[in-house]
Amino acid sequence: MRLVVIGGDAAGMSAASQARKRLGEDDLAITVFERGHFTSYSACGIPYWIGGAVPDRDKLVARTPEEHRKAGIDVRLRHEVVGIDLDRREVVAHDLTGGGETREPFDHLVYGAGAVPVTPEWARVRDAGVFGVQTLDDGQAIHDWLDREPRPRRAVVIGGGYIGVEMAEAMVLRGLDVTLLEKSPQPMAKTVDPDMGALVQKSMRALGVEVLTDAHVDGLETADGRVRAVVTPGGTLPADVVVLGMGVRPNTALAREAGLPVGPTGGVRTDLRMRVEGVEGVWAAGDCVETQHLLTGRPAHVPLGTHANKQGRVAGINIGGGYATFPGVIGTAVTKVCDLEVARTGLTSKEAHAAGFSFVTASVDSTSRAGYYPGAEMMTIKLIAERRTGVLLGAQIVGRAEAAKRIDALAVAAWNRMTVEEMTALDLSYAPPFAPVWDPVLIAARKATEAVHASL
Ligand SMILES: Cc1cc2nc3c(=O)[nH]c(=O)nc-3n(C[C@H](O)[C@H](O)[C@H](O)COP(=O)(O)OP(=O)(O)OC[C@H]3O[C@@H](n4cnc5c(N)ncnc54)[C@H](O)[C@@H]3O)c2cc1C
Repeated sequence: MRLVVIGGDAAGMSAASQARKRLGEDDLAITVFERGHFTSYSACGIPYWIGGAVPDRDKLVARTPEEHRKAGIDVRLRHEVVGIDLDRREVVAHDLTGGGETREPFDHLVYGAGAVPVTPEWARVRDAGVFGVQTLDDGQAIHDWLDREPRPRRAVVIGGGYIGVEMAEAMVLRGLDVTLLEKSPQPMAKTVDPDMGALVQKSMRALGVEVLTDAHVDGLETADGRVRAVVTPGGTLPADVVVLGMGVRPNTALAREAGLPVGPTGGVRTDLRMRVEGVEGVWAAGDCVETQHLLTGRPAHVPLGTHANKQGRVAGINIGGGYATFPGVIGTAVTKVCDLEVARTGLTSKEAHAAGFSFVTASVDSTSRAGYYPGAEMMTIKLIAERRTGVLLGAQIVGRAEAAKRIDALAVAAWNRMTVEEMTALDLSYAPPFAPVWDPVLIAARKATEAVHASL
């Protein structure tokens, strides 16, 4: 059997590795086409490499092409797949280095082409200091630019989602003056509720990032092949480098051309085993697919590394003759902006409303450790619970050290459809260096329970 994989990162290489684990080279030949220079890299680590917290780019690479080849996976770097022929069951790839075209037949195909940054027409300028961030090659391009430019001083980040705020932090750490433009009234508007986003905004401003909200971009000014400014209705912002953080969309151009089914979110449609719906022997995983939101029952596109790895693994196990499923997501995510941690799970108020839920919210301020214990830091936890049933629909945390990972307890509760009242009795750990005697999660659950009772 021949397995061909398109995309050599989280989803694609997880699938290839899992399939290889189960089937030896005599039973399964595996070829991976990757148009970039790297395999199995952490795109998630790019902001921390650019910002300097991770000094060495190669630390972001979990497995090099050579390591994969040693494991019996034929990795073809700098090969871009330009066509999938489902009738002939082969892919067509261009060799971006040597030129020429390869046709590779397959019995199984994994489509793991990831996502592409949203790039408006005005931002499609090459070699001018304007960057989207998706692959390690993109990260390398920004890193090289910052190293090469004589004295870059001003960065404008367009878009205040998690990639935007992480890249803003990276630019601050590189010593640039940073302006972040966000079209919503506060940053991270899709991640957290407005009141929680306002805390992020306050913190970013305290770091020295100029945060301009309700901001729109008309275009860029360039001169001598370089970006010079970002043009907004309110004026022109000088810029030596522009980073786009306007979101990503599933990279499905090839899939659509080949006739693979694409759902309402724009991602390739698969079943729970990551088989592309209705197409024998074709699998898809990662940022290019849509999945199911387990709390709304609706299709969702949630492009995160945590899902890409799991989905790729599931595809590989199934290709290798095993059985595995990816049930869906509940929207758990975490990030930080310098020392401010931000986390969420489940639905935001806006998402809960859009899904048709009637709900109550409760917010509490508490500390990460016993108040008297050195290093205790403040955090805000907000819970969203269904009116009447009290089922936890969502949770958000904004705070400092040790705040964000508390979201995992809340994610388990939301995943298991616990009520906030049930959560008040959870046997969470306590000792003064780790939590107050009433963990902030428990305090929030108590307050949300009161809100649910008041709503009856
Ligand atoms: C700056 C940043 C920070 C992030 N932080 C987090 C985080 O903290 N937590 C988290 O869970 N997620 C995070 N993510 C998201 C995470 O990196 C992605 O969800 C994950 O990389 C998706 O894996 P993937 O394999 O589906 O796609 P990708 O990682 O995008 O890999 C797809 C690969 O396919 C290749 N490719 C595409 N088209 C072709 C073609 N036609 N032929 C050959 N090769 C092709 C691309 O070059 C790419 O290498 C972050 C992403 C970015 C950009």
